Amino acid sequence: MISVVGLRKSYGSHEVLKGIDLSLLRGEVVALIGPSGSGKSTLIRCLNMMETPSQGVVSFRQQDVGDRFRDTGDKIGIGTLRRHVGMVFQHFNLFPHKTVLQNVTEGPIVVCGRPRQEADALAMDLLNQVGLVDKHAAYPNHLSGGQKQRVAIARALAMEPEVLLLDEVTSALDPELVGEVLAVIKRLGEGGMTMAIVTHEMSFAAEVSSRVLFLDHGIIAQEGRPDDIILNPQNERLRSFVSRFK
Ligand code: ADP
Ligand code: MG
Repeated sequence: MISVVGLRKSYGSHEVLKGIDLSLLRGEVVALIGPSGSGKSTLIRCLNMMETPSQGVVSFRQQDVGDRFRDTGDKIGIGTLRRHVGMVFQHFNLFPHKTVLQNVTEGPIVVCGRPRQEADALAMDLLNQVGLVDKHAAYPNHLSGGQKQRVAIARALAMEPEVLLLDEVTSALDPELVGEVLAVIKRLGEGGMTMAIVTHEMSFAAEVSSRVLFLDHGIIAQEGRPDDIILNPQNERLRSFVSRFK
């Protein structure tokens, strides 16, 4: 669905990603783990070109992504990529002056030009999936963090993405609200959604992912099945990292 080859990213003289090769297959759930500052967010942001790689090529469904917003020649544009690759952040970034329903329908109506009735019906279906139908008329500041994050997930899904990127979506939540968000993500994975998930929730990563990547100092230092990487880590740095989150 999405891949990068030879991805490098520097900020000034600081090289943050030092040559990453990664492919996400359809229906695959990949967990990205690693110490703070190892480049997880930079990597996941490069996958939808929110950061421009310094070197390397991102491709979506085997087509290279160009540096323009629009499709050009044989390259797909950043606009097309983002249309198909949804992203959910640690801080939910909901529109505070819009209701839950309006937050979810904004993209389909404004970006995709869908008729309001159709967008409303889709949004209500998604709010049902994340357990928030009864909150459709509420404003974000009347919701808990876990509810806000579930709205943010519904909003990303409303664009009917083919890939979903999640960057520490539970890190800003009170511990008792983490489970409800993880449950929604788990169900999405079971439904076949292709996802890359940056998380510090090790048992969650082990449970939902088919593959785990351990990012360390801007390279994929270890990669494998969750059983090997998280539950039975062999590499010393990985073992000490994982043990801190158990
Ligand atoms: P992680 O998500 O694994 O914690 P990040 O990808 O956020 O790591 O950051 C990796 C490194 O890149 C850090 O040293 C961070 O300070 C640096 N960095 C990230 N974004 C920027 C930026 N926009 N400008 C300069 N440095 C950045
Ligand atoms: Mg990060």
